[in-house]
Amino acid sequence: MATEETNENQTKQGDVQRPVIRMLGKARSRSGVSRRKVCRFCADTTLAIDYKNPSLLKSFITDRGKIVPRRISGNCARHQRSLSVAIRRARMIALMPFTVTGR
Ligand SMILES: [Zn+2]
Repeated sequence: MATEETNENQTKQGDVQRPVIRMLGKARSRSGVSRRKVCRFCADTTLAIDYKNPSLLKSFITDRGKIVPRRISGNCARHQRSLSVAIRRARMIALMPFTVTGR
């Protein structure tokens, strides 16, 4: 009987501890504070996606010249689509790089 009780206690402890650890492990931000990502173009309607404005588009490409994925940038699907079109157009007229290679 005594052993059964200890087993129960052990399992209870495990149940309590494990979910907490899993939650922390799954949380993406290491700092613990997860910022709410808001689509910049939805938040500011005056901000227009324009292929002739590379300074704006530049904030949505990596240092290697790749388009930043939606899960990172936080853009909504609609704006990410028009953004990627704008970036591709800007690339075609040499306003933006296709790739950035280190020397
Ligand atoms: Zn949006």
